[in-house]
Amino acid sequence: MNAPAELADCLVVGGGPAGLAAAIYTARFRLNTIVVDSGASRAALIPCTRNHAGFPGGISGAELLDRMRAQAIEFDAQVRRARVMAIAGRAGDFTARLEGGEALRARAVILATGVSNHRPEIDEALHTLALERGLLRYCPVCDGFEVTDRKVGVIGQGARAVKEATFLRAYTDRVTVIAPTADLGLDAAQRSALAAIGVTAVAGPATDFRVEGAGLGFQTAAGRMTFDSIYPALGSTVHSDLAAGLGADLTQDQCIKVDSHQRTSVPGLYAAGDVVIGLDQISHAMGEAGVAATTLRNDLAAAAPQLR
Ligand SMILES: Cc1cc2nc3c(=O)[nH]c(=O)nc-3n(C[C@H](O)[C@H](O)[C@H](O)COP(=O)(O)OP(=O)(O)OC[C@H]3O[C@@H](n4cnc5c(N)ncnc54)[C@H](O)[C@@H]3O)c2cc1C
Repeated sequence: MNAPAELADCLVVGGGPAGLAAAIYTARFRLNTIVVDSGASRAALIPCTRNHAGFPGGISGAELLDRMRAQAIEFDAQVRRARVMAIAGRAGDFTARLEGGEALRARAVILATGVSNHRPEIDEALHTLALERGLLRYCPVCDGFEVTDRKVGVIGQGARAVKEATFLRAYTDRVTVIAPTADLGLDAAQRSALAAIGVTAVAGPATDFRVEGAGLGFQTAAGRMTFDSIYPALGSTVHSDLAAGLGADLTQDQCIKVDSHQRTSVPGLYAAGDVVIGLDQISHAMGEAGVAATTLRNDLAAAAPQLR
């Protein structure tokens, strides 16, 4: 039988901007910190972020993550590539079960597991190429500036598509909403809201994506259309299953509920980044992570005053 795993001070699940920022803080609080990351950070998809403060000229998401990982390791955080399948236990002694069966124990846990965007039906190689070239974009708050005066398609339906198209309309008057399916998926009020700002809505299905000239083209019910950039507005999956498994409260959208110090409803369990309701941005994820890590540190110190 394997010896029980040593008890770390802090387990961080997720190695995106939130998880790595949390680990930099907890490691610098001299807490024994393990980061477990399955390697699918949304930040890794960013070809060049231009709205993240401190990087004039921009920085790629992969480079930013490399720098943050190195910074966490510099202060002795362990960063491991693995998936956490489940967490059990309670404040003072949580056990995380990794894919493959290994168990890790920690006194407190920060969940920074993020979200995944739902994608249009584009094959993986084209999806990667289109992201790199800015033909496909997922975050108008991040890069709406870059599509100023460009021809933009929003693939989506209902309130989500209207909201995204309206936001982008502040950058360009050439915005079209295209439904992912044959049904337009917009009620009369939504259609007139779009018409009022000069946005056309076209039924799908949106299929057969291809790079065409300098744009990304695809088939719609109105024939083939090509855009300088396409924003899918198809929603996302929130990775809050580990929190749910521990009985933590979630919002209607499945985000983890936290208090103003990033504590979940489960003692000893904290959350930060996109998995928590809020602005899905690197700066916000990092800010929440700093708060979560400091709260965790102070809660551990209060529970065990002999802590360094
Ligand atoms: C194309 C694109 C462009 C963007 N551009 C910008 C931009 O310019 N500026 C900006 O501020 N934001 C941008 N964003 C948003 C930004 O990427 C996110 O807000 C940010 O990555 C959130 O950080 P996070 O750490 O919360 O989540 P993520 O970065 O998604 O990291 C979550 C991590 O948790 C891991 N994980 C999940 N479940 C488990 C598990 N069970 N076990 C182990 N690991 C797990 C995942 O593999 C992942 O590595 C962009 C997003 C996209 C998709």
